[in-house]
Amino acid sequence: MTPSNAPYRSLCTDCGISRTSNPKRCGEACQFIKPNYPELETQVHGRARDFNRPDELHFGPFIKMLRAALNNPSPGAQWTGITTRIGERLLETGAVDAILTMTEDPEDRWKPLPIIIDKASDMAKCRGMRMGYAPLLSLLEPAIAKGYKKMAVIGIPCQVYALRALEKELGLEKLYVIGTPCSDNTTTENFHHFLSLISSEPEEINYLEFRADYHVEVRFKNGKKKEIPFLQLPLSTLPNDFFPLTCRTCVDYTNVLSDITVGYMGGQGEQWLIVRNHRGEELLNLLGDEVHTSEPGTAGKRHSAVVGFMKNVERAAGGLPLRKMPNWLRPIVGWLMPKIGPRGLEFARTRVEMKAIETVLHLRREQPAKMASMVPKHIWPLVEPYGITPTEQEIHKP
Ligand SMILES: Cc1cc2nc3c(=O)[nH]c(=O)nc-3n(C[C@H](O)[C@H](O)[C@H](O)COP(=O)(O)OP(=O)(O)OC[C@H]3O[C@@H](n4cnc5c(N)ncnc54)[C@H](O)[C@@H]3O)c2cc1C
Ligand code: SF4
Ligand code: SF4
Repeated sequence: MTPSNAPYRSLCTDCGISRTSNPKRCGEACQFIKPNYPELETQVHGRARDFNRPDELHFGPFIKMLRAALNNPSPGAQWTGITTRIGERLLETGAVDAILTMTEDPEDRWKPLPIIIDKASDMAKCRGMRMGYAPLLSLLEPAIAKGYKKMAVIGIPCQVYALRALEKELGLEKLYVIGTPCSDNTTTENFHHFLSLISSEPEEINYLEFRADYHVEVRFKNGKKKEIPFLQLPLSTLPNDFFPLTCRTCVDYTNVLSDITVGYMGGQGEQWLIVRNHRGEELLNLLGDEVHTSEPGTAGKRHSAVVGFMKNVERAAGGLPLRKMPNWLRPIVGWLMPKIGPRGLEFARTRVEMKAIETVLHLRREQPAKMASMVPKHIWPLVEPYGITPTEQEIHKP
């Protein structure tokens, strides 16, 4: 994954820092080595998350959260295209010289390819989700060498962590960070295998999303659409290492160091915005009346869903959470979940707690010596309601 002159790391999502002129910076920049979230949250937002303010423990510091959708969804976007439209507006208004983000590899539409965009019209080729990792931050030095001083970066949390850790030494006049949530990423190769399990024509699939209504939506090039309930996904047939340990132990689902997070989990069918600081407000304001927003809703109760998930993770003993449910029951529960399961913000809290439990259980099992350096303090109150508490050796020492 990393070039031969870069330091070898067992936990690495190839964010690009190891490919820069000073790969040793991984030591201070990496989410998987010695993260310090309170310090970086303070650097970026002026304060660390407030554990007592509703939802900050789960989603990180924020000014406001919204449901949102573009009035005219952008063709090819993952949802309505708020992310890439903000990028276009930044370039159209001259607020930035360039944006670092991903487009698709010309050989494989699912493979992310880092790109420097300096024309608003080129943002269109970045729309949509790709599965996998690509060295986004390796473009920082080439972009700076081109003379770009005002930049935006669109990235997933492990890329944004490293970016923020090194932000001060980049010497930029302005940096906007648009983050998306991220979880359960895997290599593009693994993702192709997954596609082959859910369809007899995997090469015809051109869209896939794990929706907040417990269905995976799959679209095909000919316009056909398929919705598969989560419970009927062939997860138990995937190899144990299908999701790398990095993504099974990732502690930042909602991209807490971005200026604005653009996701869908708390959006109940629309997009979900977490505006974290005044730069995030500036970014949202760029959309003017192209976007409509409303208060996010919340419904259902998460506790039993999270307990069920935790039991599956424990049973899977290192592999994927196996669903111990008889096949005949799956369609019924699959039909019921969108109606009675956690919805809106409660769904987002559910997912964040599930990820926190995964982090602790997988890291304890596979790399226990890394617990104290890799698991930040905010993870423990998320898992405590499920009977998981840290040992003295596991308490975070950044
Ligand atoms: C691997 C992955 C997992 C995700 N999981 C969740 C989740 O669990 N919950 C949730 O709410 N949201 C998740 N998201 C974010 C979600 O899929 C949408 O990207 C987001 O809601 C923005 O939608 P949009 O229509 O505004 O994006 P668009 O306007 O279509 O823009 C998408 C942007 O994402 C960038 N991008 C696409 N693929 C990658 C990649 N592999 N790595 C880095 N950048 C990429 C593109 O370059 C583009 O800038 C995930 C994204 C990724 C990449
Ligand atoms: S900083 Fe980036 S490149 Fe370096 S080890 Fe971490 S994920 Fe890999
Ligand atoms: S799940 Fe976490 S570690 Fe994995 S790609 Fe996404 S942000 Fe990076």
